[in-house]
This record gives sequence, C-alpha cells and structure tokens, in this order.
Amino acid sequence: MKFCSECAHPVELLVPAGDNRPRYVCVNCSAIHYQNPKMVIGTIPVWERNGELQVLLCQRAIEPRRGFWTLPAGFMENNETTSEAAQRETEEEAGAHIELGKLYTLLNVPHVHQVHMFYLATLRDLAFAPGEESLDVQMFREAEIPWDDLAFPTIRTTLECFFADRARMHQGGGYGFHTQDITQPMRQPDAT
Ligand SMILES: [Zn+2]
Repeated sequence: MKFCSECAHPVELLVPAGDNRPRYVCVNCSAIHYQNPKMVIGTIPVWERNGELQVLLCQRAIEPRRGFWTLPAGFMENNETTSEAAQRETEEEAGAHIELGKLYTLLNVPHVHQVHMFYLATLRDLAFAPGEESLDVQMFREAEIPWDDLAFPTIRTTLECFFADRARMHQGGGYGFHTQDITQPMRQPDAT
C-alpha cells in the first residue's frame, strides 16, 4: 500500500500507539489501514452412480497457476456467507448445479495471508461448462486425479482427506471435518 484510500496522502509503515505490529498509517488524516487474511471458499463437487464416484475439477484460465487443476473456489465477497460464496464460485467457475453439503476443510495458509474452506457438494446434473476463469471443467475418478498438476496445496490436502475418508467408509466412518496449517510454499514445477 502506498497511498491512503481515505485522502490519497502517502502512507507510512509504523506501529500505532497501543498496537504491537506495523500498520500502514496515514499521517495526514490518521487513518490506520489494517490488512487481514482473505477467505477463499470452494467446494468438492461429486457425482456418484453405481458406486463409482467422480470429482469435478476446473483448469485455471488465469494466473497464478494458469493451466493447473483446481476445485472450484475463489475469494469471498462482502455481504455474503461462506456457503453462498461456495455456491457462487462453483456456479461461476464450473457452471455447475450443486446441492451444498457440510463444511469439510478449513486450511490456514498464513504465508499468503489466506484461509481456505471447502464444502462437500453433490452435483445435481452433469450440465456444467467452464466459466470465464476456467479453460476446462472435467470429471475425474480417483485414479485419474492429476495430482502433479493441481494448482494449490489446499486443493491437494482437501482431495487427500476426501479420498482417505472415502476409503474408510466401509469401516463405518464418514466425511469428517479437517483442519490443517499449510506453512510451506508449494514446490514450483520444473521449467520445461
Ligand atoms: Zn489519509
């Protein structure tokens, strides 16, 4: 941040009185510009018929990680709830019609100042289509998941939890709630 969004005066980075960490402070109008983590909300849309399960993934049309595969997800907007954000992002990125399920993962990603949440979701039909931010949308069986071409660590973690829970279903388990802190930046793919 360079300029005050209230009065356009240049801001300075300093610790305000009574605070304990640096903030962008406007010395002209005294506004303190707090910066807090952003929420990224998405879904795990699944389609299951005759015991065979498929998961919907979107191929990103935008940076970062253009061309890599992701669960439908995006930044939560003001004036919406997390479940509304999950439905909206799934509709916008995949054109998919879902029945929203329970909150499934809550993943802290402190080094990028984000918190990611994914909801379970069931597809109502297979009439999906890529939105503006997707190059492609496809259904994947577990064996077909492009693990090496996933866009973000939170996508990998969420899918790993999902298939691990599913593998334990026959022991009477269910889809539990999972929370993790992801503190390592993702390995960049080798340049080829
Ligand atoms: Zn100002």
